[in-house]
Amino acid sequence: IAMTGRTQRRGALLFLDLDHFKVLNDSRGHEVGDLLLKEVAQRLRKVVRSCDTVARLGGDEFVVMLCELSTEQRESAAQAQRVGSKIFESLGKPYQLAGQSHRSTCSIGAVLFGPDQVQAADLLKQADIAMYQVKARHGNGLCFFDPQMQVDISARAQMEADLQTALSDNQFELHYQPQYNVHGQMIGAEALLRWHHPERGMIFPGAFIGVAEHSGLIVPMGLWALRQACAQLCAWQRHASCAHLQVSVNVSARQFRHPEFVAQVEGELQRSGAPAHLLKLELTESLVLDDVRDSIAKMQALRNKGVMFAMDDFGTGHSSLAYLTQLPLQQLKIDQSFVRHIGKRRADDVIVQTIIAMARTLDLEVIAEGVETVQQHEFLSSHGCFLYQGYLLGRPMPAQQLQAQAMAGLAPEAMPS
Ligand code: C2E
Ligand code: MG
Ligand code: MG
Repeated sequence: IAMTGRTQRRGALLFLDLDHFKVLNDSRGHEVGDLLLKEVAQRLRKVVRSCDTVARLGGDEFVVMLCELSTEQRESAAQAQRVGSKIFESLGKPYQLAGQSHRSTCSIGAVLFGPDQVQAADLLKQADIAMYQVKARHGNGLCFFDPQMQVDISARAQMEADLQTALSDNQFELHYQPQYNVHGQMIGAEALLRWHHPERGMIFPGAFIGVAEHSGLIVPMGLWALRQACAQLCAWQRHASCAHLQVSVNVSARQFRHPEFVAQVEGELQRSGAPAHLLKLELTESLVLDDVRDSIAKMQALRNKGVMFAMDDFGTGHSSLAYLTQLPLQQLKIDQSFVRHIGKRRADDVIVQTIIAMARTLDLEVIAEGVETVQQHEFLSSHGCFLYQGYLLGRPMPAQQLQAQAMAGLAPEAMPS
């Protein structure tokens, strides 16, 4: 950094991490891992000029410091990029490790520095952040640090802290979106999380479920939603006009994979006394297919207690017909992205019809989500889909409001008779 001040020529820091190094270490032993590290070090030294520095920070992390690049920001970035390409080329060639051939890739985070930059520790941190961006995209690439990355990371960290507070301060609420049959009778509702943020007002799940998943907070949050929904089911048992309503609860991957998931659901049912056959858990295809055996075992265990299952966002994932027949499922939910284009995109009409036919063949219920127009509703009913959820019929609302509507017993106005 001092030198860039004297010469005005910029430098670059490349933070390099080997992809899947642990696999080699675990499968062939640390001695073989060490051989790879030594070979990587040799190759790195051959790629850079003598004025540059190659260092090993620890583990499989290396840092390359390039000096005396251009005085121009843009040109120095291009130079660093070129060195990065040479590194990929060199490190990508096969290695001979203890008599066996091995291939390896790496992830590189890069940051430029000049006279204006002061803290060396900050530079390393930024290069590290950029490297993690590459890792998040499955490695084998180079990414420059961008200040926006730091902003995003700080925002995520802040949201994580806020979510934690939200749980302890009871800032979550469940809203219920009604589901209707073809006769305009309310048959159930989907429970959807809402977050009343003290400063930001109401926040929708799209803005926080990702962070909650990533941090693992989704597990206690999901449990909270489940507990709430069970309590609601129980409360509705005391109202004649609500006693038949099913409640669908969304379950996210992290929550479902939790070893205690089955016990948690059973526990909540028992604690609340809610009727299991009115509780429907919504899973997604990618969640289920990620570990089919575990999924079937967990679903079956809960199914034996009476719990129902719906496949949410159906048609958007990698559906596998073979597995679909093995799952103890009761319902397919046609994803709203298809429903939205009914009558507008021929391909989506065909997909919707196919899903309906598929559900019929597999003897499953089928419900359309995101029904917004009378035309969509008509198309769906004329093609054999008789359950609907969407703004046309009702938006998500507080439980009290849904209850009042169910008690009034009126079909939604928009419902074609
Ligand atoms: P989802 O399960 O597919 O829920 C349907 C989403 O579509 C809801 O958004 C709902 O408000 C919206 N929607 C319903 N009808 C219409 C319509 O006619 N038009 C349009 N444009 N949208 C409609 P929301 O409440 O923002 O939830 C988004 C997603 O967040 C949910 O998608 C679900 O994946 C997730 N989510 C919500 N609550 C929970 C929860 O308690 N746990 C977990 N794990 N995920 C949740
Ligand atoms: Mg859902
Ligand atoms: Mg959905």
